[in-house]
Amino acid sequence: MEGWRALIGSGKAFNRRRPVPRTMETTMQDDATELDQALEGGGQLDRVSIPPELSRAFADATLTVRRRALSKSVVIGLGFYEAFALGDAFAVPDRLELALTFRFAIILPLGLMVVCWLRRTRCALILQQVVACGFHLVVVALLALLVVLSDSVNALGFVFASYALLMFMVISMALPLSLVAVLATFVVLIQAVAIAHGPLMYPALELHNLMIAIVIIGPATFANRALENDRRRHFLLMERERYRQRLLAEQRDMLARLAALDPLTELANRRGFHAGIAGDLDRLAPGSLVAMAMIDIDHFKTYNDHYGHGAGDEALRRVARALREAARPIGRVGRMGGEEFAVFIPGITGHELVLYAERLRASVQRQALVHHHSATASVMTISVGVALGCPETSDIEALFETADAALYRAKAAGRNRVSIEDLTRPDMGACRERPDTG
Ligand code: GH3
Ligand code: MG
Ligand code: MG
Repeated sequence: MEGWRALIGSGKAFNRRRPVPRTMETTMQDDATELDQALEGGGQLDRVSIPPELSRAFADATLTVRRRALSKSVVIGLGFYEAFALGDAFAVPDRLELALTFRFAIILPLGLMVVCWLRRTRCALILQQVVACGFHLVVVALLALLVVLSDSVNALGFVFASYALLMFMVISMALPLSLVAVLATFVVLIQAVAIAHGPLMYPALELHNLMIAIVIIGPATFANRALENDRRRHFLLMERERYRQRLLAEQRDMLARLAALDPLTELANRRGFHAGIAGDLDRLAPGSLVAMAMIDIDHFKTYNDHYGHGAGDEALRRVARALREAARPIGRVGRMGGEEFAVFIPGITGHELVLYAERLRASVQRQALVHHHSATASVMTISVGVALGCPETSDIEALFETADAALYRAKAAGRNRVSIEDLTRPDMGACRERPDTG
């Protein structure tokens, strides 16, 4: 058995794969083109569009990244906020106690709760984003309250701190632009109210507030868009790569199938036949016998000469079809080249083989392909040489050679007949002659 496998290699790949419908390849190519176009579109700031049929996949693919960005941003933002606790002594010395209470008794535990919730919950992303933005607004509102309550001019530093936090959140939280707009509007309004009620109530400060808002929110939004575009391009590139890999795999499969097929008869060619045998041997039950039938059309040259090459091709197709039908369900048929065919029959007994081989021979004769120039019969016939072997003791090459020798004997004995050589019982080599029929 080992010897057989070494000679013909494994044929599993040829057996298991189903043919790929042409339409699937075309669809995949169209998809790849659509992805190419999507990747080409969109500059640094124009939104890179995701094809509608991929929008669900894109949302799923980026969900984890967005959730992580959200909780990380809150952790880092909270860290920055708490790190600036010393600044309270400078900004709001008259409200130091309240400022520290806000920082450590309200914002810190609230922030930690929000982070824990963001990490654990599996609720909709938009809800998580709204909660993160809400927490950010609480921080901004408490800073604004300190601006209002303190008499210190330095408290206005909290206005800048609020915008710095906003900029960080807009860039790092991977928020949709609609939410960025809502968040930014609330922050600007809270600052406007704080300035209006703060220690320096002159109108120019409101103008400054607006200018700072534009200077901070504008670039932050652009950065948000650029990062979102990067995520989209990355997704599209991955999708395109996946499509290309699948297309390549399908094409590889198709080439392998074509390389194993005889285009004229659509039977397995020599390569496909050998690969198929390897698969058959893998599935063979222990102790089973196998047989090889070598088949050659009788007087095919004269058929070609008299009826033309086109008719010869058609006859080859008819013979191939007849053999394929007759070989079912256990036999594997291949075209070895020219007008020669082979049938591999796994798991057959010597007794069954006699009838089986006869069935192959008769199937071609039954086609009644007129061949008036045959010296054997007035219809096309075949000669069949069969070898029966035991895969544990014989090798495939010996089986081919023995079947070939049997075929030679069938030809020599007058053609249109079956000759069987039983390798399991060497003393039983026999040539069973069939009466000529025409
Ligand atoms: P025998 O009974 O001894 O087998 O004689 P034969 O004429 O069949 O054998 P021979 O080897 O002399 O001729 C085989 C012919 O098969 C020769 C060639 O023209 C023909 N042939 C081989 N391949 C093809 C093919 O693909 N198409 C056609 N039409 N003819 C082919
Ligand atoms: Mg021949
Ligand atoms: Mg021949």
